[in-house]
Amino acid sequence: MTFAALGLIEPLLQTLTALNYLTPTPVQREAIPAVLKGRDLLAAAQTGTGKTAGFALPLLHRLTLQGPQVASNGVRALILVPTRELAEQVHQSIQTYGQNLPLRSYAVYGGVSINPQMMKLRKGIDLLVATPGRLLDLYRQNAVKFNQLQVLVLDEADRMLDLGFSIELDEVFAALPRKRQTLLFSATFSEAIRQMAGNLLRDPLSIEVTPRNAAAKTVKQWLVTVDKKRKGELLLHLLSTQPWGKGQALVFVKTRKGVDQLEQELRAAGIRVDAIHGDKPQATRLRALERFKAGEVQLLVATDVAARGLDIHDLPLVVNFDLPIVAEDYVHRIGRTGRAGASGQALSLVCADEVNQLAAIETLIRQTLPRQEQSGFAPDHRVPLTDASGQILKKPKKPKIKPIPGSGNAGKTGKVHLGNWFEDGDQPRVKAVRKAPRLGGKPSGKR
Ligand code: AMP
Repeated sequence: MTFAALGLIEPLLQTLTALNYLTPTPVQREAIPAVLKGRDLLAAAQTGTGKTAGFALPLLHRLTLQGPQVASNGVRALILVPTRELAEQVHQSIQTYGQNLPLRSYAVYGGVSINPQMMKLRKGIDLLVATPGRLLDLYRQNAVKFNQLQVLVLDEADRMLDLGFSIELDEVFAALPRKRQTLLFSATFSEAIRQMAGNLLRDPLSIEVTPRNAAAKTVKQWLVTVDKKRKGELLLHLLSTQPWGKGQALVFVKTRKGVDQLEQELRAAGIRVDAIHGDKPQATRLRALERFKAGEVQLLVATDVAARGLDIHDLPLVVNFDLPIVAEDYVHRIGRTGRAGASGQALSLVCADEVNQLAAIETLIRQTLPRQEQSGFAPDHRVPLTDASGQILKKPKKPKIKPIPGSGNAGKTGKVHLGNWFEDGDQPRVKAVRKAPRLGGKPSGKR
C-alpha cells in the first residue's frame, strides 16, 4: 500500500516522498480514506502510531480542494490538544506536511501573551491547533469565529478530560456549527470518553490500532525495588554501572517539586540534564525539549503533563522514577520508547508506598513486571509481591537478589533474570469496526 493509492493530492505525495514516508502506518491506512470521504472517526490510537499524519494529511487534502477561502478571524479546521507542547508538535507536523500547499496554520495555547495570537488570527487560519482554555479566551474576545468551521479534531481526548478541560470543551462544542466532521483520538476509553463520542460523532468509523491498553510490545520493561529516599542515589548508581547508563532517557517524576529536586541531584553529579513541568515558562519548556531532541542533554526529567504526547525519536529508555498515580499513564510514559517498531527499555524504581499503583499497572497491562534488586540498595521497606490479577501478595520472607545485567553482580551462576520480555518486531494490530471500540480503561479522575 502506498500513499498514492490512498488518493492524496500530488503536493502531499511529493512532501511525503521528501520525508521518506514510504508506506502509510496502520492508523493512516484506515483513517485517511475515511477522513477524505468526510466520515467521522473514533480512533483508539496512541502517539507513535502516526496518528497525526493520519488526520493531518486528509485534512490538508480536503481543505485545499474544498470550501471557501478562510475569512477574517475564521477557522476551517480546529484541532484541540491537551498541552502546549502537543500543540506545538502537531502544528509543526501540519506545517511540514502542508509545506507545498496554500494553507495557513497556527497554534494557540496559554502561558504566553494573547495579543500576538489575536493579531495572527485576524487574517483567518485554515488549520488551527489549540488548547481548550486559550481557545475559549480568544473566542470570548471575538478573535476567532467558527462559522466556516468544517472539521473538529480532538487529539488525546482522554488527556483533555484528565486535565479537567471538560467544561471548556463543552463550551467550545456549543460554539461550533453542528454540521461538521468530527474526529476523536484517544489512547484510552473511559465512560466519559464514550459519552463524549456518543454526543459528538455521527456514524463514526471506529479504528483500534493498539491492543486494549497494551504497552508497546517492543519495550522491555522491568522494575527495581528500592526505598523511597534512596531512589536518586540508585538512579545515579545505575547510570554509572549499566550498559544503557550513558544513553538518553526520559525520566518521569510525580510532582513538579520532585522534578526540580531530581534535576538538581543529577546536575550536581555531573549529568547533563534538563527538566520540564507545568510551572516552567513555555519558552523554557520548549528549549529543554529541543535540547533533549538535539542530544545536547542526556536526561530529561518531566512530569506526566509536560511530557504527554511528545514525539521524541529513537528514545532508548524511559525511567519511571515514581510510578504514575493513574495506571494508564504508565502506558503513555513507556510509549515514548520503542516507537515505530524500534526496541526500547522502560525501568521503574518502585518503593513500598507504590505497591497499589504497581498492582493497578500490572492489571492494566495484564503482565507482572519482572523484578530486580540492586545489591547495596535492597529496600528496608520491602515491596510486597504483586501479580497481573491485581493481587498484592504477602511480603517475601527473604530478600531475593536478582542480579542486574552488566553491573558485575551477576551472581555465582552468572545467570541473569530477564523476566518475560516481549518479542521485538511485533506490529500493532489494526481492527476496523463499525461499533465503538471495546477499550475499557478506568476513568482516570483528576489530579
Ligand atoms: P505520531 O504518532 O503522529 O506522533 O507520529 C510518530 C512519528 O512517526 C512521527 O515522528 C512521524 O514523523 C512518523 N511517521 C508518521 N507516519 C509515518 C510514515 N508513514 N512513515 C514513516 N514515519 C512516519
